[in-house]
Amino acid sequence: MDISDTPEEAAFRAEARAWLDEHATPRGQSTEEPDLGDHVQRARDWQRTLHEHGWAGLSWPEEFGGRGLPGAFATVFAEEMAGFEETTGSLTVSLGMVAPTLMAHGTPEQQEHIAKMLRGEELWCQLFSEPGAGSDLATLGTRAERDGDVWVVNGQKVWTSLAQFADYGILLARTDPDLPKHTGISYFIVDMNDPGIEIRPLVQMTGQAHFNETFLTDVRIPAENMVGGVGEGWSVARTTLTSERSSIAGGNSGWSVETLIEEARARGRCDDPVVRQQLAAAHCRAEVLKVMGYRIRTATSQGRFPGPEALAMKLGYARHWVASTETAMELLGADATMYDQSEPWQYAFLNQFAIRLGGGTDEVQQNIIGELGLGLPREPSADRGVPWKDLPR
Ligand SMILES: Cc1cc2nc3c(=O)[nH]c(=O)nc-3n(C[C@H](O)[C@H](O)[C@H](O)COP(=O)(O)OP(=O)(O)OC[C@H]3O[C@@H](n4cnc5c(N)ncnc54)[C@H](O)[C@@H]3O)c2cc1C
Repeated sequence: MDISDTPEEAAFRAEARAWLDEHATPRGQSTEEPDLGDHVQRARDWQRTLHEHGWAGLSWPEEFGGRGLPGAFATVFAEEMAGFEETTGSLTVSLGMVAPTLMAHGTPEQQEHIAKMLRGEELWCQLFSEPGAGSDLATLGTRAERDGDVWVVNGQKVWTSLAQFADYGILLARTDPDLPKHTGISYFIVDMNDPGIEIRPLVQMTGQAHFNETFLTDVRIPAENMVGGVGEGWSVARTTLTSERSSIAGGNSGWSVETLIEEARARGRCDDPVVRQQLAAAHCRAEVLKVMGYRIRTATSQGRFPGPEALAMKLGYARHWVASTETAMELLGADATMYDQSEPWQYAFLNQFAIRLGGGTDEVQQNIIGELGLGLPREPSADRGVPWKDLPR
């Protein structure tokens, strides 16, 4: 298999690079650290700029406003983009998770949101996890009850990233407690401006309040905002969750093996044999991840849904993150103890837990890889077939 650029990809890369040189800020040139609200607004503005110049939705189908290019072109653009400060990371839920889900399962009216996401006009959040339902998400207890043309929702969500800035949310709620846990769940679109939604930020150890507790009290959702049918929420959510893992692993991390090598060079550590081994190992991990990314994009562009590959890549990316930022901490030595949010390596080191937990923890990835990828027996489970209302909680 030849993974070097085809002539068309090489021409596209040159075109992308020239445009980025003109419109974006090279990484490392910006010293200003925006607060979270500014950061989110910049992501929306950058997405609008990308869209206006034809660089948004490169591999999305044309019917959804994309350019319909093979996945390799999106990869080329992401590779070039990694050298610049601008990022659409705050739109990951919108572009990387909600849009693919609505493309696959949405009604034509629901799919009208997709073009707005592509233009950076709508920001979405994910209302899945609850205090008692994280890894075992299907035990969630937020209730949705039908009242005429609306569903009335009551419950609590947690870890809702960027809910404080979101226009809409995707919500999983239990519509039938008499059914087993996976089958009584439905999937909704919720307007985050509903007066029944209260958002309380949670401060992380990085100092940012990136995610929130979200309380839903008599939130009224029009029946046409259900995605998929009643009780089909779990199968719709699987599309979202698989897309989430690919998005996290394919995200712009804000650091790279090249910046790690620059740090070693700046600190005069490149002759240290242990440091050299660590840098070489980081390079190897990054190359393997790059090739895994090509494999996932090839699967997607051929209409196949990446399963175990996406899980393995997310797990590998988390391990790469942990090992590389630990190397950075060793390189920084005593400087590593000085922290504010503008210190990229300290921030990345503390942020490793977001990568290891968000989108499914490392342990849960390994369980699913064992089952789906290696064909190992399923984990023992005492709740299969038991009505959700009878489960111990
Ligand atoms: C940065 C970040 C952003 C997030 N954003 C969102 C968001 O926007 N929306 C949203 O809905 N959720 C979000 N989440 C929540 C995330 O999906 C959950 O944290 C994750 O699924 C784990 O659930 P939990 O935190 O309840 O941990 P738990 O499920 O309670 O797990 C606790 C520990 O037990 C281990 N464990 C659990 N079950 C098993 C098992 N079967 N086998 C082996 N080990 C197991 C886990 O690996 C973990 O180490 C976010 C999380 C983070 C960190």
